[in-house]
Amino acid sequence: MKIPLPEFYCPYSKECYQCCLDTEMTLSEEDISRIEMLGYKIEEFLEEKDGFMALQNTDNHCIFLKNKMCSIYENRPQGCRFYPLIYDFNTEDIVIDNLCEHHDVFDLEIYRPLFDSVQVFVYNLMGERETRMRKTMEEEIKVEVKESKEDLEDPLSKESEKIKRDKEKIERLMGQAILETQDESVEKLEEALKSEMREIEEEIEELEKGMQADLVSAEEYIKITEEGIKSEIEELEKRRKNVEEED
Ligand code: SF4
Ligand code: SF4
Repeated sequence: MKIPLPEFYCPYSKECYQCCLDTEMTLSEEDISRIEMLGYKIEEFLEEKDGFMALQNTDNHCIFLKNKMCSIYENRPQGCRFYPLIYDFNTEDIVIDNLCEHHDVFDLEIYRPLFDSVQVFVYNLMGERETRMRKTMEEEIKVEVKESKEDLEDPLSKESEKIKRDKEKIERLMGQAILETQDESVEKLEEALKSEMREIEEEIEELEKGMQADLVSAEEYIKITEEGIKSEIEELEKRRKNVEEED
């Protein structure tokens, strides 16, 4: 069974809608859920005011005021039901709002049975506001922590990128240096080999010259020897002839 919400009975509500103009009515979470159930989205009818959730106005009247009547009357917010009873934060008491069109005709005492409900409702609104503001603050802190972390990580990742790039550069230069060193080694080796070759060629040349000289000496020796042998043969021939003639 649906328990009817407590409310102030205003006998002028059929002809007066003063309280729906430039409204600053704040809503409880329960009010918001009830209106959402009608198919309205929060951004269509609510705006935040200092942590409280208040009804939006359009053309200087509540968004739900249509043809001078409340279009969600059965589901209207609890604050609208209590109005013109409001909580005075200065006196910390329930009063009739001076802004009500007929505030001077209402006898506050008649509505005393509603005072506790109004007070509980107002405290509930304040509690919800506190929870909302704490959540918002927590969200802001989370965002700040996240941003600070990112700010901190950003230079670190930049530094690590730089180190990576420097490392790659050093490796590249080292590779190049090794190649250059290798090239130099090859060049030096080639030079050494060439010089070695030159020395060997010179030695061969020297050897050839020596051999040539030896050959010339050998030829001369052979020639002299041949001539010696020839003259001995001639001598022997002469002697043989002489011996034959003597015989
Ligand atoms: S919700 Fe209805 S009763 Fe409340 S201010 Fe808007 S139009 Fe008026
Ligand atoms: S302004 Fe006062 S008199 Fe007029 S409808 Fe609202 S509560 Fe009633």
